[in-house]
Amino acid sequence: MAKHIFVTGGVVSSLGKGLTSASIGMLLEKRGLSVRMQKLDPYINVDPGTMSPYQHGEVYVLDDGSETDLDLGHYERFTGSPLTRDSNYTTGQIYQSVINKERRGEFLGKTVQVIPHITNEIKGVIERIAETKATDDPTERPVDVVITEIGGTVGDIESLPFMEAIRQFAIEKGKQECLFIHLTLVPYLKAARELKTKPTQHSVGLLRQIGIQPDVLVCRTEQPISREDREKIALFCNVSLEAVIEERDKDFSIYEVPLSLLDNRLDSLICDRLGLKTPDPNLSDWHELLQRLRNPSHEVSIAVVGKYAEHRDAYKSIYEAIDHAGIAHRAQIRVGRIRSEDVEAEGPERLLSGYDGILVPGGFGERGIEGKVQAIRFAREKGIPFFGICLGMQCAVVEFARHVVGLEGAHSTEFDKDTPDPVICLLDEQRNVVDMGGTMRLGAQPTRLEPGSEAAKCYGSSDISERHRHRYEFNNCYRSRFNAHGMRITGTSPDDALVEVVEVPDHPWFLAVQYHPEFKSKPTAAQPLFAGFVGAAVQHRMKKRANASAEGTPAAEEQPTTPS
Ligand code: GLN
Repeated sequence: MAKHIFVTGGVVSSLGKGLTSASIGMLLEKRGLSVRMQKLDPYINVDPGTMSPYQHGEVYVLDDGSETDLDLGHYERFTGSPLTRDSNYTTGQIYQSVINKERRGEFLGKTVQVIPHITNEIKGVIERIAETKATDDPTERPVDVVITEIGGTVGDIESLPFMEAIRQFAIEKGKQECLFIHLTLVPYLKAARELKTKPTQHSVGLLRQIGIQPDVLVCRTEQPISREDREKIALFCNVSLEAVIEERDKDFSIYEVPLSLLDNRLDSLICDRLGLKTPDPNLSDWHELLQRLRNPSHEVSIAVVGKYAEHRDAYKSIYEAIDHAGIAHRAQIRVGRIRSEDVEAEGPERLLSGYDGILVPGGFGERGIEGKVQAIRFAREKGIPFFGICLGMQCAVVEFARHVVGLEGAHSTEFDKDTPDPVICLLDEQRNVVDMGGTMRLGAQPTRLEPGSEAAKCYGSSDISERHRHRYEFNNCYRSRFNAHGMRITGTSPDDALVEVVEVPDHPWFLAVQYHPEFKSKPTAAQPLFAGFVGAAVQHRMKKRANASAEGTPAAEEQPTTPS
């Protein structure tokens, strides 16, 4: 029978509960355990698919097409735990399911209430992830540990039913089968030159009012926590001293977090408490990746030109995938977050000169589109490596149509319904869609790559599968014209109906994809196209250096990019 770990958060939001949960998952996996990860989100949206990136950061898409919370990205990057629709539930989904049951008459005339109906539904989804096979693989191992992260902060009205459900769950399963980990903040007060434990005491107090006594406290802190302070926290929060774990801020990399939890013996504590007998974890691959991060051989700069550039979480997986490619190439990457509207206002020359690669990510809505088109034109004409993703590919197609194929008014019908040349448009199956939630082309789908293309070279294969999240597609009527002008279609769906990858071979590296490769990148295994793109950026930088030294110009980095 699977053991359960519940991770809750207190004091403030954004403490990195997702990262901590993912790190715990990884440490347990490295001890040979089979782990499943799950996030329960207290908001009422059925999924984050309809939420603005300003509200909620990126929407993380799984193979099965579910649109989930970005913490699931941490889970996938840190662990091998298979993620499915069962890995993320929201209050909206829980209520929707209970209301559907009520409409079907399944409650036999009873009054439907938060306790027991909503809490039973929540307990059901926790149980389900432990019992359901995640794959068709008959050799799939039974689950040893389920880690369920509860979104929000203790004390929120919205999270109460979830807290109540996990309290009941632990009573029903037996205390020894479950472990409550509470993540809290131990702030440092500069004026007093002291760490303050009171917020943690209050937060644990709130949890205990709900009936949950945490077993372990993970304390986020800027400064080391003294033994005295740990003793104080232990005493006031009713936990043992060894269960007060320090999690100090990591300035260098988030990939240090698991190692810091390991140093503080969190994984062995969890195994002891849950009666799991396992060998010590082997983290050699993780040490190796940190060693690579710390000792780069190259330096490159990549501009990410998007609508939500100022919002760090909006392109989370893109930034992570760039970092992974940097690790693979031992390249230290400076990422410039450029607002596409600023490119419109100030021109690409001023904002983008000097970058070794330009990436235009996915997105929705018209704002900043022309800035993206200008950025892509700049990359294409100046020979700067370019990588377009989803909307980024659609903009690359529009740019090429306008400035190379000669279709001046070309556009995507998402932004101009009456364009004379709808190079990006809706397919018939999307035309009559009314609901906004969950109705896009979603999830993993196969792509066939042209042998010998840059894409096929990067993947080392012609048959790949990547995740999608979009409505609009390349308009097939234009394929031959693009080909004739030098933009090649090098990846399509296996039936050749949908364009997946375009390339401009007469350019150092110009590749754009309709899917979202960033969701499958891992720190220990960079996504192949990101690796290819960053590799091209490294080459670009070296060429610039060589040109500069041939011309006797110092400080190549400060020079604007020279036209190729
Ligand atoms: N807005 C575009 C579409 O719906 C692109 C979506 C995206 O970039 N994820 O097709």
